Amino acid sequence: MSLHPKPRNSESIRTEDPVELSSKVIDEAIAHEPTNRVTNQLSVITDDIAVIESFSHMIVFQTDDGLVSFDASGESSGLAVIDSLREWRKDQIHSLVYTHGHLDHVGGSGAIVADAEKRGYRHPTVFGHENVPHRLRRYQQTNNWNTLINRRQFGGVSPKHGMGLTSNSQLFVPEGTAWPDVVYQDEMTLSVGGLDIEFKHGKGETDDHTWAWIPSKKTLVTGDLVIWVFPNAGNPQKVQRYPLEWAASLRQMMTHGAELLLPAHGLPISGNKRINRVLGDIAEVLEKLVADTLELMNRGEQLNNIVHEVKVDKEMLELPWLQPLYDEPEFVVRNIWRMYGGWWDADPASLKPSPQRVLAEELAFLTGGVEKLVERAQVLASTGDLRLACHLIEFAAEAAPDDKTVHGARSEIYRLRRSSESSLMSKGIYAAAMRESDEIVQSEQDQ
Ligand SMILES: [Zn+2]
Repeated sequence: MSLHPKPRNSESIRTEDPVELSSKVIDEAIAHEPTNRVTNQLSVITDDIAVIESFSHMIVFQTDDGLVSFDASGESSGLAVIDSLREWRKDQIHSLVYTHGHLDHVGGSGAIVADAEKRGYRHPTVFGHENVPHRLRRYQQTNNWNTLINRRQFGGVSPKHGMGLTSNSQLFVPEGTAWPDVVYQDEMTLSVGGLDIEFKHGKGETDDHTWAWIPSKKTLVTGDLVIWVFPNAGNPQKVQRYPLEWAASLRQMMTHGAELLLPAHGLPISGNKRINRVLGDIAEVLEKLVADTLELMNRGEQLNNIVHEVKVDKEMLELPWLQPLYDEPEFVVRNIWRMYGGWWDADPASLKPSPQRVLAEELAFLTGGVEKLVERAQVLASTGDLRLACHLIEFAAEAAPDDKTVHGARSEIYRLRRSSESSLMSKGIYAAAMRESDEIVQSEQDQ
């Protein structure tokens, strides 16, 4: 992703060994403790494979020529992750592989390079798909936009610290981030110190994703194609995601007979049956969302109808590897529409809309004033129809943008809305709306 829910309180962790925990969670299909753990602690999975659980994880293979690391973790966790690694092994990091260019995977690379310099090692060779540098260049082009949306996305959960992605830094891509030295197109094999690692390109959360198969270890490294929450295939504030291609990568992984799966977020998985259960479940929900959405698109339905009609089975959403705590199915439906259709939602009025404020003023006039819109929004909110309540309070705020009573009501409605939602993405956006109104109420009080 750029990632997942809040940093977990390490006190709630009762099972230290992540593999033992994942076996239990998968076998019982229920989680009694956190599965996404940001502890920066290293777990030795086998003699020569270790995972440091962070945001994102660093996954390390020992070879005769030094270490191969998948991902560098984020800027704020890079140092802690390296410290944990060094308690286990002091060897040089020979190669650093980016599973994709999200900053929670590449942002810690500066700390890795600094560690190499401190120890007198050469810099690791950095590998990634050919789209990784395109992504990093795009981030530079849209620096402020990305800083803003990440603040909104992660600000709903941990307003002060977010995930280390909400820093006040002016640079979205941290200074010192190592760009790939070697890029590949469809697949490549990296051989280091007797270990062969097969890179495969697979679109999914991003267009620059690498997953890896290590035949001698019967091990898959999945990056964010497995994240132990509902797949991040719908993010409302980010570029196109690829749900069907994502599922195809998972199906391809399933053909390898893997005995160990190492994701970039969440728990490692041991045993082919468990691995294929989880991969198959994620693939199935994505394939079904695409099929159901396309079926309605083919019938000529409007986007709004499709969003309300296409659902994922409730039992699936309760599985610990599919809970909508980060992204959610409704957003994936919109991404599918955008991918196969276009930006227009098939509502003729929205093709070339009137200015939002003019529409809001007209509605306020029709209903007998902004107060009527506010009153009705409050009634709807109190009876639980928060979707409708939000429409009305937005019209009220558009029609009376400086009115502190309106913004007081708006803040309260979005507070309710935020707490009624499960996904970090919804919570973040509603919390941002709440803060926006709070600031207006506050600024008027200060005068
Ligand atoms: Zn991630």
